[in-house]
Amino acid sequence: MYNILVVATASMIALAIKGRMEIKREMNLKSPFVIEDTPYQEKINGIGLNVNLPPMVRNVTSKIERSFSKDKLNTFYHNVHTLRVTDDVKKLSVAERRKGIRLMGVYLPMENAISIDETCVNEKIVAHELLHMSSCKRRRNKYFQGFCQGNKNNNVGDGLNEGYTEVLTRRYFDNGNFSKGAYTTEQFFALCVEKLVGRDKMEKYYFDADLKGLMRELQNYYSDREIESFIVGLDNIFNYKSTRNKELRVEEIVRNSYVEVASFAHKALLINSLNNRDNKAVRDYQNGTRLIAKIGDNILSEASFQSAANELNKRFTDEANEILRSKVYRR
Ligand SMILES: [Zn+2]
Repeated sequence: MYNILVVATASMIALAIKGRMEIKREMNLKSPFVIEDTPYQEKINGIGLNVNLPPMVRNVTSKIERSFSKDKLNTFYHNVHTLRVTDDVKKLSVAERRKGIRLMGVYLPMENAISIDETCVNEKIVAHELLHMSSCKRRRNKYFQGFCQGNKNNNVGDGLNEGYTEVLTRRYFDNGNFSKGAYTTEQFFALCVEKLVGRDKMEKYYFDADLKGLMRELQNYYSDREIESFIVGLDNIFNYKSTRNKELRVEEIVRNSYVEVASFAHKALLINSLNNRDNKAVRDYQNGTRLIAKIGDNILSEASFQSAANELNKRFTDEANEILRSKVYRR
């Protein structure tokens, strides 16, 4: 399988540089990035939580500890006792507010620190950032965080990772309310992947920071090209949504990314309904296809959506026919 991906860097990674925060917001296209196997991590048992944490952070860490089975908590235990909490993000949000951006929380993977603006933070934001902590490993200058891998210049899998982090936040800290709020588009596409892989395995890959393992699992259903186009495409959409870069070249990339991502998700929902053949799976498929179209409308409202829609319709029909002919759904 190809290891080199062409990827747009994350637009909203806050980097702490010598005590000063900086947001990367430009879309740096076409930097190659190698996806690696997740670093080995020694097994450790629960070693107690960091008692110096602020009360809300400590509450959320103990809720994470109660919510997941031990085999998913190894990375959590590796990080939680050295976690630092700062309020640097507050300084940042003051400067950024004029531009209409307010960052309420951020996790810094290389420093194992969360930074929260305690004037507006709530349990869900803390949970989201602590889930990043619970799924973050490091090797040399590189971090492996959930379904994302990166360094200070570049990363891959950010869109899928933010989506799934928010799925877990909603599932365990908001009674499974997926419908509104942050990263709804990314959440939807991450849930499509989870339907194929299964919840337990998907959570395990996430907490192991094992993007490569997830990609191998998806090879049961997809070609390498489809898997890579999905991951990179979701990164592009994620970046585009936060930057709203209307440059023609970028819109073209986003339009193509949408076609790839939507096509991948459509196939996931179709295989899921064929695998299960129950009412819920069929409903998921029907609602899912409607949602895919709606997401397209939102993302590409100012781009040439009609041609993307035509292209998609053709691909959906071709793919549905191919799946129905093949035996792939019997896996
Ligand atoms: Zn996040």
